[in-house]
Amino acid sequence: TLMVAMALGAMSDLWAEAMRSIGAVERVFELIERVPAIPNRGGDTLARVEGRVEFQRVSFRYPTRKDVAVLDELSLVMAPGERVALVGHSGAGKSTIASLLIRLYAPDSGSITLDGRRLEELDPQWLRQQVGVVSQEPLLFSDSIARNIRYGRPDATDAEVEAAARAANAHDFISRFPKGYETLVGERGVQLSGGQKQRVAIARAVLKDSRLLVLDEATSALDAESEHLVKEALDRLMRGRTTLIIAHRLSTVMDADRVLVMDSGRIIQSGTHASLVAEDGLYRRLVEKQVVAA
Ligand code: ADP
Ligand code: MG
Repeated sequence: TLMVAMALGAMSDLWAEAMRSIGAVERVFELIERVPAIPNRGGDTLARVEGRVEFQRVSFRYPTRKDVAVLDELSLVMAPGERVALVGHSGAGKSTIASLLIRLYAPDSGSITLDGRRLEELDPQWLRQQVGVVSQEPLLFSDSIARNIRYGRPDATDAEVEAAARAANAHDFISRFPKGYETLVGERGVQLSGGQKQRVAIARAVLKDSRLLVLDEATSALDAESEHLVKEALDRLMRGRTTLIIAHRLSTVMDADRVLVMDSGRIIQSGTHASLVAEDGLYRRLVEKQVVAA
């Protein structure tokens, strides 16, 4: 892990750029994999993943900023298939939890387990295959739409890619391009809207079919049609998977099985939307703000 941190330090510009969204971690993994000094393989794999995640008294500071305690003895449990929404002010540590879950970093103290196994005992590359990520601003490769989706599972057939795109409400807009799935996107290709990019990222996650999901919800509003199509596709994707949603929209939070409210690296409230609005606390203030803003 120290090696990972050092390698990341050496590429801090790329890192800063890539970390603008959680989805970018997939690209960072690629970068890490190109640094031969980083042992990226090794460790156990589980034959079957139930999807139970537990953080026990996890404390963490970024290697480059040891003065800031980002997570402070934080504990949380996600049951298999549970949909957990994480809310809190910017800088509270929400994205950091996601980074630790996929072992981009290791905690300074405390433990993180998947199905009771400590993450450091598990093969990092295998672990990352068990977690689908849909970020705020998905980064697409400068490549065809088909290859962008297939990144979720390189051996998928064309039919599987199309089925994933349909599940993600992406097939219709893809089909309207003259070159369909072979349309180039990214710097040298077609510019997709935010909602379209998100649906390509969702299709990638559908294809990956992982037991765990991390969703970093977009902060900026999508157009109404896209919003509806994205929400519907995400609902389909989340079904039966343990999901951590870094949530910005009240409607998402209300649909969650449980809401965790973060402040200064700790979970300060936990419950359902209904139980939390009944408490005099940060959650109610966040909700009031959103209602006013809506
Ligand atoms: P949130 O997602 O809740 O907005 P983050 O987890 O992104 O919060 O950030 C928590 C704290 O960690 C903030 O103080 C932020 O500045 C800091 N931080 C986030 N990423 C890094 C990084 N790569 N290196 C150093 N500090 C970071
Ligand atoms: Mg964040």
